[in-house]
Amino acid sequence: MSLLDVRNLTVTYAGGAAAVRGVDLRLEAGHKLGLAGESGCGKSTLALALLRLLPAGTRITGEVLLDGEDVLTMKWGRVRAVRWAGASVVFQGAMHSLNAVHRIGDQIAEPILLHKKATPAGAKSKTGELLEQVGLPAARAGAFPHELSGGQRQRVMIAMALACDPRLIIADEPTTALDVMIQAQILRLIEQLVTDQDLGLIMISHDLAVLADTCDRLAVMYAGRVVEEGPAAQVYADARHPYARALSAAFPRIGDPASRFAPQGLAGDPPDPAALPSGCTFHPRCPVALESCPEEDPLLRTAGPERRAACVLAGPPADAPLGAREEPEPLEEARPGTP
Ligand code: SF4
Repeated sequence: MSLLDVRNLTVTYAGGAAAVRGVDLRLEAGHKLGLAGESGCGKSTLALALLRLLPAGTRITGEVLLDGEDVLTMKWGRVRAVRWAGASVVFQGAMHSLNAVHRIGDQIAEPILLHKKATPAGAKSKTGELLEQVGLPAARAGAFPHELSGGQRQRVMIAMALACDPRLIIADEPTTALDVMIQAQILRLIEQLVTDQDLGLIMISHDLAVLADTCDRLAVMYAGRVVEEGPAAQVYADARHPYARALSAAFPRIGDPASRFAPQGLAGDPPDPAALPSGCTFHPRCPVALESCPEEDPLLRTAGPERRAACVLAGPPADAPLGAREEPEPLEEARPGTP
């Protein structure tokens, strides 16, 4: 059984259109899955839906099986317990997520007291251990958030996420606000914890390079759907979907002066979920769109070993029999996160 198995997940905000549309994902313990895409492509909505952390009135359909148990059909008491002990979230911007008037030790200890039913002494001792695990002295438990640097605060957020020994960590742009040196330290720390504790990690970022460096597999989202998935290094270096290719080309590569002086961008913005273009939703921005693209909405199709992409140019030729072109691989073999 997989640690996380997401099936046909669709998320619709109250009074709006679907922000996530029919996503399948799978992740095994000890593995790291990166979710990439521009702002507005649905990646944060997808991550928050995994723990039902979206505003009241949001409609979530499909299945989110965490260790085989469907989060979407759990009673609220069970969801609250699962949010700490089953899976937890590291949000971006630690200064906004931490309470400015409480010492960090008390903030880390709170879920341990509440969910693990620990004694105050036990919670204090566990807090010290967690701080040391993330590279901070246990004595810093008495500090207020403003007394720590940005990198130290992000370490505190990671310690909080680990407080109740979850099996899955969801990290939403965990290093966006940090300088590159601290970013590298935090990424190595997260990687180490995932390996040492056999956790699963879902990391969200618009930065494909960061995800390729940290994760085993990558899923690239556009207009609420996964449009490419595969081994992280391959998707970054040789994307099969034109959108994933444009995302990868938007970042200069170290050692390549051509890309440093002329990083390629992508004109326009992702579409409004309430007014999606017909056919392939990427066609108005696609540099290689065909005449048929405004009519045909391609499903994910095989685009190489362990790779899939939702583009008519990525799979078997268009004159192949329809079944050969449209039939996705069995999910057992083709979902991202599969080792
Ligand atoms: Fe571009 Fe057409 Fe492929 Fe969509 S299906 S990404 S428009 S070539």
